[in-house]
Amino acid sequence: MKFSKLFIPTTKEMPSDASLPSHQFLVRGGFIAQTGAGIYDFMPLGKIVLEKIRAIVKKEMDEAGANEVQFGFVTPLTLWQESGRALTMGSELLRFKDRKNGEFVLSPTNEEAVVNMVKNRVTSYKDLPLHLYQINTKFRDEARPRFGLMRGREFLMKDGYSFHSSEEDLVREFNLMEETYKKVYTKLGLDFRVVEADSGAIGGSGSKEFHVLASSGEDTIVVCDGCNYAANIEAAVRKPNKKEVLDSSVLEKVYTPAQKSIEEVNTYLGTDPFFSMKAVIKKAIYENRKEIVVFFIRGVDELEETKACNALNALELVDAIEEEIIEVGLVPGYCGINGLDGYTFVVDCELQGENNLVIGANEVDYHYKGFDLSALKDVKYFDLIAVKEGDICACCGGKLSYTKGIEAGHIFQLGDKYSKAMNATFLDENGKAKPFIMGCYGIGVSRLVAAVIEQNHDEKGCIWTKSTTPFMVDIIVSNSKNEDEKNMGEKIYEELKASNVEVILDDRINARFGFKIGDFELLGFPYAIIIGKKLLDGIVEIVDRKTLLKTEVKIEEVVSKILNLIK
Ligand code: ATP
Ligand code: MG
Repeated sequence: MKFSKLFIPTTKEMPSDASLPSHQFLVRGGFIAQTGAGIYDFMPLGKIVLEKIRAIVKKEMDEAGANEVQFGFVTPLTLWQESGRALTMGSELLRFKDRKNGEFVLSPTNEEAVVNMVKNRVTSYKDLPLHLYQINTKFRDEARPRFGLMRGREFLMKDGYSFHSSEEDLVREFNLMEETYKKVYTKLGLDFRVVEADSGAIGGSGSKEFHVLASSGEDTIVVCDGCNYAANIEAAVRKPNKKEVLDSSVLEKVYTPAQKSIEEVNTYLGTDPFFSMKAVIKKAIYENRKEIVVFFIRGVDELEETKACNALNALELVDAIEEEIIEVGLVPGYCGINGLDGYTFVVDCELQGENNLVIGANEVDYHYKGFDLSALKDVKYFDLIAVKEGDICACCGGKLSYTKGIEAGHIFQLGDKYSKAMNATFLDENGKAKPFIMGCYGIGVSRLVAAVIEQNHDEKGCIWTKSTTPFMVDIIVSNSKNEDEKNMGEKIYEELKASNVEVILDDRINARFGFKIGDFELLGFPYAIIIGKKLLDGIVEIVDRKTLLKTEVKIEEVVSKILNLIK
């Protein structure tokens, strides 16, 4: 391909809202163009990358035995009513009406559509297992679309759904998908980690996420320095922290004037915050109601909101403002577990059995000392805390620390949630109708375009991996008005093409050398061949985009050198 013939509108102008390198460079390099909040067009270079990633995903999915299909981007709302998700999906689900007042949604995911496809078509255990997938546009009306392709509203996803007659067979497919995904990310040339993930309110057993490691990642991943344990912070666990209780437990109400925070109260009383109960008050949003709720954790811990949300089976937790807390009769700053009958509260399981605690007295300026939690009956205990760096690994006793990741894939053992709701059954060996056991498996194809660059860039621009780059080699003719340079460029270009190298020839007559080099650095093809003044001595230069190191090579050797490099 010749540069002069390809639409590559590079620019020095930075989008004003672009904080991430991938967002900046993909826009500046003319890969993508924004048309609305979270909505992007792919220009020729961006489209090539997207298709390369799609092809790698497709090849591995096909090899694993899955069948490619395509669901309509628009689905009737009735399907979503059948599964119940019309009510629970909230505002991420974009709904609209057609001219006949029929209601539809833009697909954010396709569990309903796939169950609808399989229902009454697969009727016997003999036809199972079955795995259907597509690589297709999704729309989610994200509250905060941001970071370019990373969190779009319209994006490209590979979504696969498997159907089984037993849990064991689902687990087999789940493990196969883990291996398949590992192959995909390895082929893409990415440094990634498989992590334990939150299974959400859906419950179910296994759920794993695949994270591309990058400092800009939105997700915090907990990793162990001693073993393979890795988990999204939303699901991470630790070895429970324990300390000896020093004093005996005698309940005593104490005056703590204007001492509200854990730090203030414990400094004032000379007590250890480890043995105090912190009340975190939130507003829980359910399908058709809202409620002020209280989470109790140790004074030294922080609440993990996803865990907290799952504990209550709520759709979402939002901050409760002081007026709302007072309105329901709670006392901000002095909320304690003693006397909370009638309120919804849950307690972190590491507090279970603890005594001699400092807690709020539900009265302004007062706390209790020496509270014995084990005396309280009917308390609901859940894992509610966010694992901290330095905590101890529950698997091996190693030290846990944080790293940042970009969620590039998620595999999930669904069970019969959707098949049951939509009454999709098969006949088992005994002729008995049973709902399909399902798994679902997603890969963020367009997010991966950005993830490759988040992990591989420098201050000058993109550095594509070999399997994702639009072109492997950029032949830069320093001065396209010089006939010798121009002809040599053409010659090497033809030779590389004949050797099946994806090559682009920067033949732009009116672009100066510095400009061409600037574009090479911004666009991030792995190698450039510079044809310049040394051509008179029979020499050209190869530039490695990653290191920006230049090597002089004899013209006769340049093709074989390149073939060696890209092997
Ligand atoms: P997130 O927690 O990032 O919102 P999710 O749990 O909603 O992700 P899934 O429903 O599991 O994501 O979707 C499968 C994959 O699709 C994700 O692993 C991610 O790579 C990608 N994806 C999800 N939401 C977006 C988005 N708004 N923009 C681009 N890619 C996305
Ligand atoms: Mg999401």
